[in-house]
Amino acid sequence: MPPLVDPVPGGNPGDLARAHALAHELSAQGVRGIVLAFVDTAGICRVKTVPWQGLQPAVAWGVGMSPVFDTFLANDSIVRTDVLGSPDGDLRLVPDLDRLVVLAGQPGWAWAPVDRVTQEGERHPGCSRTFLRRVVADAEDRHGITFKAGIEIEWTLGRAAAPADEFAPATSGPAYSAARQTELSDYTADLLAAFEKQEVAVAQLHPEYAPGQFELSTDALDPVAAADQSVLVRQTIRAVSQKYGLRASFAPAVAERGVGNGGHLHLSLWRRGVNLHAGGDARYGMTAAAESFIAGLLAHLPALTAVTAPSPASYLRLRPAQWAGVYTAWGRETRETGIRVVTGTTGHQSHEANLEVKPVDLAANPYLALGCVIAAGLDGLASAAPLPEEVTDDPGRLVPDEAVARGVRRLPTSLAHAVDEFREDEVLRTALGPVLADAVVAVREGETAAVAGLDEAGVAAAYRWKY
Ligand code: GLU
Ligand code: MG
Repeated sequence: MPPLVDPVPGGNPGDLARAHALAHELSAQGVRGIVLAFVDTAGICRVKTVPWQGLQPAVAWGVGMSPVFDTFLANDSIVRTDVLGSPDGDLRLVPDLDRLVVLAGQPGWAWAPVDRVTQEGERHPGCSRTFLRRVVADAEDRHGITFKAGIEIEWTLGRAAAPADEFAPATSGPAYSAARQTELSDYTADLLAAFEKQEVAVAQLHPEYAPGQFELSTDALDPVAAADQSVLVRQTIRAVSQKYGLRASFAPAVAERGVGNGGHLHLSLWRRGVNLHAGGDARYGMTAAAESFIAGLLAHLPALTAVTAPSPASYLRLRPAQWAGVYTAWGRETRETGIRVVTGTTGHQSHEANLEVKPVDLAANPYLALGCVIAAGLDGLASAAPLPEEVTDDPGRLVPDEAVARGVRRLPTSLAHAVDEFREDEVLRTALGPVLADAVVAVREGETAAVAGLDEAGVAAAYRWKY
């Protein structure tokens, strides 16, 4: 588990001694600087760096950065809420030493995610990592539940030499093909080597469906670690890609048509070391708690898309028949429902069984996405919400009356519609708190305004290389 205590001004003595020793170790290994990373509301990873000698002072006092980034848009313009977006103020970025990693793809650099605290040493209400730590801690306190989570990473590789930010697929081999795997054999082997050095446990790496697309999945971790890891994995993929003259896009859509890049969330609930998705009396071996959690997710899914699919480009991906899961429905191993129930292999269920949330992409801030998914599910669990009937095959084939009768809704088809749903969702807004909830609304409205007048090709191009 990550430390759930907030950073304290001056640092606690154990951390200071540890940072001092670690900094010298890093220097001896050739590390010159440390990347301090956080993800903003728009889903962009923003960083500051310090030389290795700056690690201990950063642990003690943090590194200054304006709170204005909470209302940055992907195009670096700034919107405002009642409390955010002004040029005033400062925050301290405090690295989490438990997550500090030497970057195998960027010689000379180490990396650490940060919590953001105020100059007075208080939690910053706009810090998404602090938000997720709080949601996870509350789930354990109130419900005795812990989680294992994983974020799948899909990305599309273009040729870095392509003119004018266009997308030229870096491979020509078909989906999932040996041909595509062979085309980028050295690249993918280098990626695996980098992850091994960084102690990222890769589960699978494969050529995906769309031209130039690959996917990497990792073993499940506690939610904060899983979110941190998804940021680290993307930093590594970007760096290794660049060495090969490739350009990695994690954008929901690199083109206006075709299958996009997903960032499916896998999650399982555990109580006293027991997986609640296996060995229970409910459907497919789920426990009643797991069923109600999924019911909560389905009820909040339209509003959740404002958090899990936060870019105008997300809605180029969120279309039927792309395995992006655009319906409020669940099914066992169903890839067109919003929630896919994964039961695992006979004999291995207690370890493997989990749920997958599909309408999530990698423009999403992973801390906000996981925190809101957990808050939505816990709302169902707390009220013992009944899980509707399973939907098999493609929910898009249900006739409208049947869809209504079964509670199957198409998810929002635009960011503006998702924000309308989010505005009405008291559970998500309360979980986030007013500062983050208002930032979500303001940033999404800003993104919508930023692409007004663009056609779909223009929207895809505007976000193609942002994430
Ligand atoms: N690329 C698809 C998406 O956008 C997912 C394909 C899969 O199921 O892995 O979500
Ligand atoms: Mg995939």
